Amino acid sequence: MAEQTVERKDPVYLLTIGYVLALTIIAVMSLCIHVVIGQVVDEQNNAAIVVSARQAKLSQKIAFYATQYVEYRDLVFKEQLEDSLALMKSSHEVLIKGDEGMKVSSLLSEELDRVYFSLPYNLDTRMNDFVTRADAFLATNPEKLNRESQDYKYVIETAKGSLVMALDAATLEYEAESEQRLGKLQSYQKMALFVIFATLIAEASLIFKPLVTRVHNYADRLKRMAMTDSLTGVDNGRAFTQKAMKELKRCKRHGKPLCVAILDIDHFKRVNDEHGHLVGDAVLKIFAQFSQRSMRLEDEFARIGGEEFAILLPHTNLVGAELVTERIRNIIEISPIRYDTDKELYITASIGVAEFDPDAVDIESAMDCADQALYKAKQQGRNKVVCSDSYCSDGNVVRLGRPGKS
Ligand code: GH3
Ligand code: MG
Ligand code: MG
Repeated sequence: MAEQTVERKDPVYLLTIGYVLALTIIAVMSLCIHVVIGQVVDEQNNAAIVVSARQAKLSQKIAFYATQYVEYRDLVFKEQLEDSLALMKSSHEVLIKGDEGMKVSSLLSEELDRVYFSLPYNLDTRMNDFVTRADAFLATNPEKLNRESQDYKYVIETAKGSLVMALDAATLEYEAESEQRLGKLQSYQKMALFVIFATLIAEASLIFKPLVTRVHNYADRLKRMAMTDSLTGVDNGRAFTQKAMKELKRCKRHGKPLCVAILDIDHFKRVNDEHGHLVGDAVLKIFAQFSQRSMRLEDEFARIGGEEFAILLPHTNLVGAELVTERIRNIIEISPIRYDTDKELYITASIGVAEFDPDAVDIESAMDCADQALYKAKQQGRNKVVCSDSYCSDGNVVRLGRPGKS
């Protein structure tokens, strides 16, 4: 539970989550904009083509209805002719002046100039002439309608011939222009999308990654500082408690024994008094070094108080712990501590050892047992290893000890 909280508050984790979220939002928004722009471009470019193509179709219809009207004098054909002509007029207006809904002229004004007014088939003039003559044809007295009349001939020939051809040609022109424009816009769109993603990737690798590495290193340093004793460089009490809790769980899972030993330098106050505080500090550092050197790799060592240290001995029962700590006590006793290049002194340490109860849920009771055993060691003359009885249930029993020298 405690580990999960630490994990969730980890600044690197939070930073990464925040950054990935921000990147995802930017990427999704870019894609949406890309899709929407694509749709708008498609719709707008098709408008002029649609109008021109419809004009071509209408002119064919007009030719057909005009023939039928002259042939049968049926008013239904006349009405349809009028409707088609009205539609043609309004489409022409849309193409020239633009329509609020379509916005054709504003989008294609250059193309309109070129195609509608300048090319050999000047559609604007032709369309206007055609509409005027078609109106005149419709206004003709039905009695006088015949295939030889000038208006009739003009309407049929223009509608069927040059007007349709010119409108078809204009439609093709628009289509080609439109495709070109669309292709250009699509390549700009792709480029914009590429730039966005390239920027995101560059940002992620050139800015975010180094930033995360720095934050990670900084957080690591802070974490290490919070877990390390600044004088000796070994773990501090907080780190020891965490590691001991982990080890306790692991040993319980595997059904292995676990022991703890507390070491206290004997008469350390005298060292300070006789040689000064700085020498005392040096002694603590050297003591930490050779104690650590005389342990196994899997053992954990920490400074848990002023001149108090603790050792965690995984996969070790009380008998094994006795042997290990006795060896350490002996090394401390016989090793000279050199300070100020040419000076040396000897120290001893008392050690209390306890084994963890396999049912223990925390390290407190085993630590208390070890502390009580240490107290016994001090009482019995120091420079001793005292082991607590099994799980410290009925008081401490001296299992091993050597006569103190002080
Ligand atoms: P005992 O054998 O009963 O343990 O006697 P002791 O003198 O070692 O124990 P006591 O608790 O009377 O004194 C511990 C001394 O350790 C007192 C304190 O000034 C010293 N000490 C604690 N931390 C430091 C430190 O960081 N540097 C130095 N130089 N001395 C320290
Ligand atoms: Mg002490
Ligand atoms: Mg002491």
